[in-house]
Amino acid sequence: MSENIKKRPIYIKIKDEDNVAITVDKVLEGSQVMEGITAKQDIPQGHKIALCDIPAGGNIIRYGVTLGYAINDIRQGDWINEDMLSLPTPPSVDNMKWGVDIRTDLPKPERTTWEGYRNADGFAGTRNLLGIVTTVQCVAGVLNAAVKRIKDELLPQYPNVDGVVSVTHAYGCGVAINAPEAKVPIRQIANMCKHPNFGGELMVVGLGCEKLTPDRITDRLGSDTVLILQDYKGFGAQVEAIMALAETKLKRLNQRKRETLPLSDLMIGMQCGGSDAFSGITANSAAGYASDLLVSGGATVLFSEVTEVRDGVYLLGERTVDEPTCRKLAEEMKWYDNYLELGGADRSANPTPGNKKGGLSNIVEKAMGSIAKSGTSPIVEVLSPGERPSKKGLIYAATPASDIVCGPCQLASGITLQVFMTGRGTPYGLEAAPVVKVSSRTDLKEMWPDLIDIDAGTIATGNATIPEVGTQLFHFILDVASGKKESWAEHWKLYNDMCFFNPAPIT
Ligand code: CA
Repeated sequence: MSENIKKRPIYIKIKDEDNVAITVDKVLEGSQVMEGITAKQDIPQGHKIALCDIPAGGNIIRYGVTLGYAINDIRQGDWINEDMLSLPTPPSVDNMKWGVDIRTDLPKPERTTWEGYRNADGFAGTRNLLGIVTTVQCVAGVLNAAVKRIKDELLPQYPNVDGVVSVTHAYGCGVAINAPEAKVPIRQIANMCKHPNFGGELMVVGLGCEKLTPDRITDRLGSDTVLILQDYKGFGAQVEAIMALAETKLKRLNQRKRETLPLSDLMIGMQCGGSDAFSGITANSAAGYASDLLVSGGATVLFSEVTEVRDGVYLLGERTVDEPTCRKLAEEMKWYDNYLELGGADRSANPTPGNKKGGLSNIVEKAMGSIAKSGTSPIVEVLSPGERPSKKGLIYAATPASDIVCGPCQLASGITLQVFMTGRGTPYGLEAAPVVKVSSRTDLKEMWPDLIDIDAGTIATGNATIPEVGTQLFHFILDVASGKKESWAEHWKLYNDMCFFNPAPIT
């Protein structure tokens, strides 16, 4: 065997104080995992093995953090699964320290420019899209029929336009429009009207009798923007009207050209879904390194998913740059704690059967891996769901962790590309911004070669380092943002619905 072939490690231990490690591959009962430690049962890939005896009530430690407490005695070499530990109480968000973990020596990126579509205000676009925002789900059928014809008959005549996106959603009517939390869905829909990938050529399609009137989402209320279906005589006239207005927008969008822009004109988002025990040490860590390179070069990076940072929120608080930012972080956590409590749930409702099969025992373990995607940059701002940022740099954008809700929330905040880390695998995608997929395991990339863009599993097998994969991801992000490459989700046109977050009452 060549000396160049590295021996595949059997286990990964993260911090010296950890009393558990995870297995790189499936381990059979009786096999030696490390010197003096033999597996007492078969252990699935990515699951935890006890490195010492842990008495009932003892702390189970990974990432240097207590994941939970042993329910019964655990012996050295035992497989630790999700039924063997109890959940600790969540850390308090009162009196969190801020500004004590501000990193100033971030890695420097090799590239500081990209090719994007400049906008009159705010961030630039990664794609040149005609965006059609709706005020109510009732119009979706007519709009979708019109959009199909726009794509078939009009779009080919405008080669500089990348696509047509109908922002249809479940909100708009049959809702308590004046309820306090109605501001959350309304803000997301209103901010989609300003999305950087729509180039300021907005179209709004409404029905005419809904509660979400166009003036609640845009101040551009002229007939060159807003079209109300009840004003038109029948389906045929409605479709013709949408197509005619779309054509005037397509003509203008077709004049737009990519320009070389600084990274400060780029805003992307990070999220993970279908995570496993490798996510935190491979895909999310590589994404964190890419995030540090982007932020160091001047770009803006959003990360989110409240229930997946809740158990490590004090670590984020320490990275906030000032007291108001830390206070807003605490307020967003409290709001979500209350939201879950009203629904008779808590953060323990988060991990999925797939997460557990992938070795994640509970939300503490999932959170420690999830936070890794934020890298190490200072946190300059905290956003409520769907808010647009006022600063540049690393930003915590509070959203649900649900993949299909986090995506639209981050889009509403204005991200023009999303990086998505997955361990179990999901074909998730967004139509308004390209989604780049990073796998936590090489097995997943081999299983889904035409869905996963970057394999970070090489970090677990010792064939690549976090900076190497992070740098590879950084370049891929900029190539996709610049229109030089397309991600697999974009290539296959895998687009999820716009499931905006609505914590307000439906009537
Ligand atoms: Ca998610």
